[in-house]
Amino acid sequence: MIKAITHIIIGWSKRWGILQTSKAEQKLSELRIERCTRCFFSEQSSVLKIINGKGEYQQHLSCRKCSCPIWQKTIVVDEKCPVGKW
Ligand code: SF4
Repeated sequence: MIKAITHIIIGWSKRWGILQTSKAEQKLSELRIERCTRCFFSEQSSVLKIINGKGEYQQHLSCRKCSCPIWQKTIVVDEKCPVGKW
């Protein structure tokens, strides 16, 4: 449980730029995302975000197996796919 919470905090901190993301982490994340996009459990959706007072729809990929946002999940080195795909 503590590990899962730590991963969530790390993933979102990297997403928001609070923690830096190394080139190696970025590359690893890209390879994982490539697998996720071809996975039965991945789900694409649009999320409305307000940036500088303007609404903008952004594409969002999540995992239906664990309910995690894919980018945040894949950027955490110790994180694992719930069905063993990476
Ligand atoms: S984390 Fe695993 S189960 Fe979830 S979408 Fe990615 S490959 Fe599929």
